[in-house]
Amino acid sequence: MHSSHTTADLQAALRARLGDAAIVTEATAMLPYCRDWHGDVTSDAVAVIRPRSTAEVCDAVQACRNLGLSIVPQGGNTGLVLGAIPDRPEREVILSLERMKAVRSVDPDDFSMVVEAGCILAEAKEAAASKGMFFPLALGAQGSCRIGGNISTNAGGINVLRYGMTRELVLGLEVVLPDGTVLDSLSTLRKDNRGIDLKQLFIGAEGTLGIVTAATLKLTPFPDRVATALLGLNSLEDVMRLYRRARRDCCDLMSAFEFMPPIAFALAREAMPDLTMPISGDCPVYVLMEISGSGLVDVDDLMQRFLENVLDDGLVIDGVLAASATQARNLWLFREGMNEGQARRGTHLRTDISVQLSRLPDFVREAEAAVAAAAPDCVCVSYGHVGDGNVHLNVLPPSGLSSVERSNRIHTAKKEINAVLDRYHGSISAEHGIGRLKRADFEERLSDVQRHLLTAIKTAIDPAMIMNPGCQLNLGELS
Ligand SMILES: Cc1cc2nc3c(=O)[nH]c(=O)nc-3n(C[C@H](O)[C@H](O)[C@H](O)COP(=O)(O)OP(=O)(O)OC[C@H]3O[C@@H](n4cnc5c(N)ncnc54)[C@H](O)[C@@H]3O)c2cc1C
Repeated sequence: MHSSHTTADLQAALRARLGDAAIVTEATAMLPYCRDWHGDVTSDAVAVIRPRSTAEVCDAVQACRNLGLSIVPQGGNTGLVLGAIPDRPEREVILSLERMKAVRSVDPDDFSMVVEAGCILAEAKEAAASKGMFFPLALGAQGSCRIGGNISTNAGGINVLRYGMTRELVLGLEVVLPDGTVLDSLSTLRKDNRGIDLKQLFIGAEGTLGIVTAATLKLTPFPDRVATALLGLNSLEDVMRLYRRARRDCCDLMSAFEFMPPIAFALAREAMPDLTMPISGDCPVYVLMEISGSGLVDVDDLMQRFLENVLDDGLVIDGVLAASATQARNLWLFREGMNEGQARRGTHLRTDISVQLSRLPDFVREAEAAVAAAAPDCVCVSYGHVGDGNVHLNVLPPSGLSSVERSNRIHTAKKEINAVLDRYHGSISAEHGIGRLKRADFEERLSDVQRHLLTAIKTAIDPAMIMNPGCQLNLGELS
């Protein structure tokens, strides 16, 4: 438990400058900030600080430094690796960006927008759309996650295969550094090779190097024509064949290519019983594919012709093409609802793996076989952003197990999957980051050179080690 003395000192230091609403210390009010998205972990903090401006973030950082407190930045708290939840509650404050949510500008001529870090992703996308523009980052949590969190996790999502990860969508950043100074780099320049690109250090840093307070984001014209299809195939090999064909035949207009196992339909309907089945659900594997464009491009015609060809060839054995935006949304609800369905089956293993594209089918088969041998009563659910070689190979223990038995199964399955993954030279985190959940697995796989460089960067920027300690790396404390 944190000392009331520290809390009172923090309040005294900040209240006059930031106002009462900026400092939350009451336990019930702090709870939503201290619990992770799935409710697996609940922590505590000295306080939650909610600044309204970059200057107030600087004040908060100074106050924390003076009191010897560390800072855990938080956006929408939708992260899946415990990066935004303190693990030394008596010495850490959560700094929430939720009150810094302004869209500072949307500029269609520059194909860019400037937003504050606390802007919810869906609201940033809407602001861009209101000017005919598109911010392509798209993920299931977009109604809750915030731009600063997206940048700090270098978030991926369903549109990566066309537009890239968040890193590729950031033109400039404003960051409050651990000494309270501001790196003002809100550039809109597309090309700028003046030495080392400092902003890159903070993208994917998960709050360990500073607090992102605003960003300039890259926009594209809004793709007002979208064609969506759900396709049934015989095997993962066929999925990869279809992917190659689609990349070629659709001229890189493909904006999503997700694969799902047939159990996805049952899982989604456990979470959303009113969903109507769009397809038989009997095929060994399904692909949800989207192509999109704007202006003179006729994506409906392109999708129609593409599907005719792949059905004629026998590559696709069943399929449904959405005839309206509502039908397309219904198809996506199966993809999104399967996450919720898995959560309803209790604590389970969630992985976020990437392997070389061409080796994905072999990897999934081998890893699932290893889990089946070691934990035969568990169900494997493999799905994900197959166009990026990114698979979520989740493992659901059966119902009726004690929590100890459940975590034993999860531990066993993870060990088996990681052993196969290491043989494939894959990544234990394709898009969710490291946080605290994957720290041990990450550290175990670092070379001496990587560890040395990461430690050197951290100690150069945050010598007092106040930024999100224990997230990504366990470096202990220098002072
Ligand atoms: C249903 C669901 C679907 C998801 N789908 C995807 C997906 O497809 N792809 C994907 O990549 N992720 C996905 N995620 C994970 C999550 O939404 C992303 O990681 C997202 O980018 C986190 O944003 P956030 O604002 O919630 O960050 P938080 O959870 O609040 O924080 C995440 C990390 O960033 C740090 N941080 C937050 N804000 C700042 C800031 N302003 N400055 C410095 N550090 C900061 C935190 O300290 C923490 O380490 C999903 C999550 C859910 C619940």
